[in-house]
Amino acid sequence: MKLLSIVVPCYKEEKALPLFYSEVRKVLDTIDIDYEIIFVDDGSTDQTLSVMHGFSETDSKVHYISFSRNFGKEAAMYAGLANAKGDYVAIMDADLQDPPALLPKMLEILESGEYDSVATRRVSRRGEPVIRSFFARTFYKIINRISDADIVDGARDFRLMKRKMIDAVVAMTEYNRFSKGIFGWIGFKTYWLPFENVERVAGETKWNFWKLTRYAVDGIFNFSQIPLKISSWTGLFMTFVSLLGLIYIVLKRTIYGNPVAGWTSTACIIIFVGGIQLFCMGIMGQYIARIYMETKNRPHFIVADTDIEDAVVIK
Ligand code: UDP
Ligand code: MG
Repeated sequence: MKLLSIVVPCYKEEKALPLFYSEVRKVLDTIDIDYEIIFVDDGSTDQTLSVMHGFSETDSKVHYISFSRNFGKEAAMYAGLANAKGDYVAIMDADLQDPPALLPKMLEILESGEYDSVATRRVSRRGEPVIRSFFARTFYKIINRISDADIVDGARDFRLMKRKMIDAVVAMTEYNRFSKGIFGWIGFKTYWLPFENVERVAGETKWNFWKLTRYAVDGIFNFSQIPLKISSWTGLFMTFVSLLGLIYIVLKRTIYGNPVAGWTSTACIIIFVGGIQLFCMGIMGQYIARIYMETKNRPHFIVADTDIEDAVVIK
């Protein structure tokens, strides 16, 4: 029989976990498949880990991995995928925003053989703040224009994948991880399953506006070199414009002989150009910082506690 692994990144999910667990078991017990659930505790400071201990004591299908501190959802997903043994692996949020009821359908699609993964996307953003939806949409438009990772608007991290795809994802060891981009970049055949947005069952979202903005900027810098190109083109354009200006001034001086007036305009131009230079240096800095982090070769996560034998504890 095939084995299905469910990877669940959890950060301060003590309230949502029991609900998630019973819901997922209810669904999985109706399907004819062997399964394991891997909960990854991303350095939670509440009772998340003890809830996991409780599950794994009573249920041999449940495993847990607990980080030494909060490493972020990307790291938690990575740890789960690196330790999943299944022929099929699914990633699911702990707050039931990724409906377990979709799992049987997703499995069916994979088993029919044509696709290597089934990904989900929200068709509505019902219940989400309007501003947040607006910025999310804009982000997807921009990133699809400027990067070679093809990212679907409303795509969730909720996916079911075949072993070969998991191996490819785990083989991508980059430090700056942006899973939505990685899934798109590795290719394979993906079936997109739409569903209506569901609100979180319990607990609170860990994403505020600022964190989401950083996530979006990360996505762009990790999967595109367009910002660098923009900065060099801007530089070139400014040089050209200032050359024209120079010629104009020299001609005016030699032909009419009147000295150039206008301190205000000069000061404005200097500040403007200075600003653009700093902006472009900032863009370069973003890439250099990423190169710096990559060359350090630090682990993505450090495991403090797990019940999985021969688990990958540092990677
Ligand atoms: N999460 C995590 N580490 C973090 C933040 C979040 O593992 O640092 C998990 C969280 O427990 C949840 C999933 O990532 O299972 C999605 O988080 P959340 O529901 O807060 O995000 P939203 O659905 O609001 O985008
Ligand atoms: Mg959520």
